[in-house]
Amino acid sequence: MPQKTLADTLAARETLYVNCGHPMCCKSTKLDIAALIERLGPDHGSMHDDLVDLFGCSKWLTTPSSMTRT
Ligand SMILES: [Zn+2]
Repeated sequence: MPQKTLADTLAARETLYVNCGHPMCCKSTKLDIAALIERLGPDHGSMHDDLVDLFGCSKWLTTPSSMTRT
C-alpha cells in the first residue's frame, strides 16, 4: 500500500476513523484531517502506524487498534 500524507488524504476527500481496541468499547472516532494538518503538518503520514499512537481512548486508556479509511 503506498504511503499517503495527510495532505493527500484531504485532497482525496477521504475520511479516517480510528477504532478503539478495547472489546467492551470498540468506539470509532472520526478524525478531523484539517485539524491534524494544522497540528502535524501536511507531510505527516496518514497511515495506520502514523496516527494510531496519537489517539487514546479516554474511557479505557487503550490505543486504538485499527483505522478505517473511507
Ligand atoms: Zn474505547
